[in-house]
Amino acid sequence: MPQCRSQSTSCNHFVDSERIHPASPPPQLLPSAKPFRLAVKDNIATAEFPTQCASRILRGHKSPYEATVVTQLRARGGIVVGKTNMDEFGMGSHATNSMHGAVSNHLSTDEPISAGGSSGGSAVAVMLGEADIALGTDTGGSIRLPASYTGAVGYRPSYGMISRYGVFPYANSLDTVGMLAREVKPILHLLVETKLDEEHDPNDPTSLSPASRRRCAKACPPLLEDMSKLTVGIPLEYNVAELDPIMRQAWAEAATALESAGVNIVPVSLPSTKEALCAYYVLAPAEASSNLAKYDGVRYGARGEHGDAGGDTLYSETRGAGFGPEVRRRILLGTYSLSSEAMDNYFVQAQKVRRLIRQDFDKVFKRDNPLQEAAQFDLSDMDAETALQDKQGPPQVDFLLSPTAMSFAPTLNDVLTKSSLEAYMGDVFTVPASLAGLPAVSVPSGRVGEGRLPLGLQLIGQYWDDKRVLAMAERLK
Ligand code: GLN
Repeated sequence: MPQCRSQSTSCNHFVDSERIHPASPPPQLLPSAKPFRLAVKDNIATAEFPTQCASRILRGHKSPYEATVVTQLRARGGIVVGKTNMDEFGMGSHATNSMHGAVSNHLSTDEPISAGGSSGGSAVAVMLGEADIALGTDTGGSIRLPASYTGAVGYRPSYGMISRYGVFPYANSLDTVGMLAREVKPILHLLVETKLDEEHDPNDPTSLSPASRRRCAKACPPLLEDMSKLTVGIPLEYNVAELDPIMRQAWAEAATALESAGVNIVPVSLPSTKEALCAYYVLAPAEASSNLAKYDGVRYGARGEHGDAGGDTLYSETRGAGFGPEVRRRILLGTYSLSSEAMDNYFVQAQKVRRLIRQDFDKVFKRDNPLQEAAQFDLSDMDAETALQDKQGPPQVDFLLSPTAMSFAPTLNDVLTKSSLEAYMGDVFTVPASLAGLPAVSVPSGRVGEGRLPLGLQLIGQYWDDKRVLAMAERLK
């Protein structure tokens, strides 16, 4: 088994929590079930272990139920091996904002380096061979960025495909549960052979209905046709000046390799990309501020020291001591952008940008967005018409190829000395697909950077085209 190269004995990727129960009763195994070791990010409820979201406010929290996705994976042979460390409530890009301390990349040598966040613990667990599959959550890139920094495969599904019941929300309209593994195959197996994508969960209001699932699946082309029938778009706006030259080269090499295999490569433009990061960092904190309001020491959350004082003191003590600085920053940011005087300038504008980003993607993909088709059908949505007109013109692609991150994994020291804003910049290539609810996979490129650090390439597909995105990612690897 590969060892953590960092100086300390552990990369701090698993949360050191006691088992609550010896093991959950095994669910009815599916005929396609094969045993595998499953690591679970600590914002996903398990019955066997506490679920603490790396937050003091949830220290020792025992969930009375298990997340649907955990039960679904156990029915497919998953054996939960532990909970993985993360950024508190999923807020961060380096798995450093945690009450358990930072995760360090298994590739660290003299100096600890970032494993990426927020699902950094899950990425390290699979890369060290301690789990075959790890569950993570991806709101704005939390699966794909750790995958890029550690050399793992990281998959973010179409929004609404995999149940979020039992997953502690960060930003509901963006949150997805996805997976990390060393290869694409085990993830693809869960979708293709065990049909995870067909499972609607009535407990999750954002889980796509069985009828919509059938309609979306019908609209999907066969798994992967002949490479010569495929077109991959290179989004020009991702070629930013700040992109590491080795990454740019790896991106170009991957495109050339696909071209030699017969794939048609075309440049495409997604003009609203440059607004995506700003829109994300208005919308995600706004939703977070509302989600986290329930942790007040009365309804939920471990009470602060002087909790008995009641009223405002109880709230401020509980929330001041329970939340870490990044979470507090997001709550303030979100509360401000939702306030009556700021709402129109920030939240509403960000929603408009989100719509433009979706339209950008819909314009370049060959396939229509199956959700958009539904919108056209009831003719109540003027934007559907605009989207239809916009569809004419630019090249039509099956997938988009970009780097996952702008740079290689930084040292933890670098992360700690830089501002939050600089960490936010690291999400620039991952947030557009998140805002559009599209499936995206990060796969390690064959190329490595200085110190042999890996780098990820991102493939994005049209809504519900997850299986083809994964199958294509397998060819990229
Ligand atoms: N880094 C981003 C953030 O902090 C994304 C996090 C995520 O996807 N959970 O919001």
